[in-house]
Amino acid sequence: MWRWIVRTCEFTARDGTGRIGRLRMEDKEYLLPGAYDTRTIFPALQTRRLDALFPTDNPEFVAKFHTRDGEQPIPIHVHVDDPCGSGDVVITQNWHTMLKQPRDFIRQLLLLKTRLPPDTCWYYPGGILPENAAILVHSGFDLFDFIGVDLKSAQGRFCLPDGDYPESAINEGLCTCSGCQAGDLRDHNRHTLMQELALIRMRIRTGTFREFLEGRIRTRPSYVSILRHLDRTALMEQHTPVTRPTPFIASSGDSIHRPEVKRFAERLLTRYIPPLADVAVLLPCSARKPYSLSQSHHRYTQAIRRRAHELILTSPLGLVPRDIELVYPASQYDVPVTGYWDHEERFQIADTLAKYLIKHPYRRVIAHLDGDALLIAQQAADIAGITLESTCSTHPTESDALRQLGDALSGEKKVKNHLLRGMVSMQFGYDLRVPGLEAKGSYPEVIVKKNRQQIFSVEPSTGMLRPTFEGWAMIESGYRVYIDNFVPQGDILAPGVIEADPVIREGDEVLVIGDKAMATGRAVMSADEMVRSHRGVAVRVRKVKKLDG
Ligand SMILES: [Zn+2]
Repeated sequence: MWRWIVRTCEFTARDGTGRIGRLRMEDKEYLLPGAYDTRTIFPALQTRRLDALFPTDNPEFVAKFHTRDGEQPIPIHVHVDDPCGSGDVVITQNWHTMLKQPRDFIRQLLLLKTRLPPDTCWYYPGGILPENAAILVHSGFDLFDFIGVDLKSAQGRFCLPDGDYPESAINEGLCTCSGCQAGDLRDHNRHTLMQELALIRMRIRTGTFREFLEGRIRTRPSYVSILRHLDRTALMEQHTPVTRPTPFIASSGDSIHRPEVKRFAERLLTRYIPPLADVAVLLPCSARKPYSLSQSHHRYTQAIRRRAHELILTSPLGLVPRDIELVYPASQYDVPVTGYWDHEERFQIADTLAKYLIKHPYRRVIAHLDGDALLIAQQAADIAGITLESTCSTHPTESDALRQLGDALSGEKKVKNHLLRGMVSMQFGYDLRVPGLEAKGSYPEVIVKKNRQQIFSVEPSTGMLRPTFEGWAMIESGYRVYIDNFVPQGDILAPGVIEADPVIREGDEVLVIGDKAMATGRAVMSADEMVRSHRGVAVRVRKVKKLDG
């Protein structure tokens, strides 16, 4: 029997492919990601008997036995192309063993994720445990049940986010939940799962889920594999915000592969336009960000006195030119500093620097570095076929070294202020050549004006440039969102978006264009999600301008 159920699914915050939102079914509402007694939400689950026998990858068997009863949740399979719409709840049947096969898991996940609308609710049946909740949410699953933890209870296993222990662990004082107090293992295991999901929701809301995830996945190699496979996918890049208001904490070897790191290096080599300068100075990074505000960098800039383009060598970003030190995550990252760089970090920095120096040749490159950093710069110079000059016979911050640096630059021309053009090139991929711009304010809180009119402002907490309508008039292409024939009252919702520049990611500054109005604002989702979703805020609007006619 086919029943129409009033249902909606709306996502309000994202962190990579993990997201939080709400599923509404009839008059009930469910927080996502969350674990529920799904058989009471979806009566169809009580009658689908074949579920338990379903093989994951046999096309003929799937074609013959795939469930089609028109009820929610809709079974999805790589070999079946059933229509699913926005707001539908979809179920990946028998995926509870898939986590042990990372390659298959990712292959099937990517096929299905690209095929279905982004605002579908993904139900992963039977397999969630406190230890794998983070990697499942990161993979884009929203809805879960208690089958996995109840099975653990039946097997006499005590679950925690770092794995499971013999039942006797309930007496070890590891947890003080109501289940533990009553000696009820099943209650404890369910409680632990719900607590883990609540923590995940909070981490997504505060933009710190990735750091949490990197810690959580260490319990099983297959979870680490899934993270690493996903990091290499276009899906993950598409869902990674361009900026966050929170620090980027690079505390594991996997941080170097984060989409934000790859994106920075890629934009540095493809988008970034350096100032007109024929001398470059390579500098060490500082713990304080932005680097300019550190004591060591204050000394370097005093010695250099703008007679060279300053390039900062750093892990995991590789290379950060001074004029884009505010761009995320350059201004926001925090790494454990040991003075020792491992093989992968060395390779990444040398590779980025070599490619940069080949693309942008300087007449002189001065390495104001010592130790490992100098060796890495030398390696990059060898690849690029250039000769490095060195100005550090002592530690870079010591007066002898600083004097050497100043002397090496005597007679060199001053480099013009390049902050705006550099930042515009990184953020918008656009070459801004407008004369007569004035930068005001105290760095990094900068406002750019032309003829006393504000054109751009720098948002120091996110490292983003915010153009006014006059600023947008100077950036002639890209980062546009096209809407229908209406004047926005508040934020732009996804159904109102007709088209969006495919490069737009969450956090990007965008210009909204319609027949009746224009608006400036910040993208809340990627272009793909704006175009394919039927619910949710697409652009947080800052200013609206009605158009005549
Ligand atoms: Zn407990």
